[in-house]
Amino acid sequence: MLNIERFTLGPAKTNAYLIADSDSREAAVIDPAWDGELILAEAQKRGWRIAHLWYTHAHFDHIGGAGAIADALNPLPLVALHPKDHVLWRAEGGAAFFGFKIDPGPEPTIDLQQGQTLRLGSIQLEVRYTPGHTAGHCVFYAAEAKVCFCGDLIFAGSVGRTDLPGGDWDTLVNSIKTQIFSLPDETRLLTGHGNETTVGQERRYNPFVGEASK
Ligand SMILES: [Zn+2]
Ligand SMILES: [Zn+2]
Repeated sequence: MLNIERFTLGPAKTNAYLIADSDSREAAVIDPAWDGELILAEAQKRGWRIAHLWYTHAHFDHIGGAGAIADALNPLPLVALHPKDHVLWRAEGGAAFFGFKIDPGPEPTIDLQQGQTLRLGSIQLEVRYTPGHTAGHCVFYAAEAKVCFCGDLIFAGSVGRTDLPGGDWDTLVNSIKTQIFSLPDETRLLTGHGNETTVGQERRYNPFVGEASK
């Protein structure tokens, strides 16, 4: 079974997701935001071993806890990111632009790509490539658990900003329509900021991309 813990961390109130396979106790952090020590302590409290860091994208508010998590782990967690966000990762996710300094942790060595399968014990997550907020943005869909971790692509009643480097409005809308609205209505969307929503809710009522926007 897929266990999911959400932590809302840092000045951008970023959602980090600590997820684990209850059988193997293998865990991953999707977007290790800000407070790596806290995420690590929560994993240890549950007896979960963090083996992976999976990034929806490389903005600093989504990766700033990676260094602290990795420092405490041996072996190091494997870091996965889409290659088109590597430049952003090297720039520490734009932290300096917003007046922050982060420890980005280990270099990403797993290149995410459309259709790839990520494995956590017996659990499988499908990678969907969803550019628009950044050039290398991806979402992670766990079909069996009916959840999609969707980063800064779409939010409850909103969408990701497209005015930062690598952002593009038409690309974002296309990503949402092809990669999110193609999922079953009941799929939970666990977003990078704010409260969770569902595919059906946003397909109907999202003021930017839903049926209500037409
Ligand atoms: Zn972002
Ligand atoms: Zn964000």
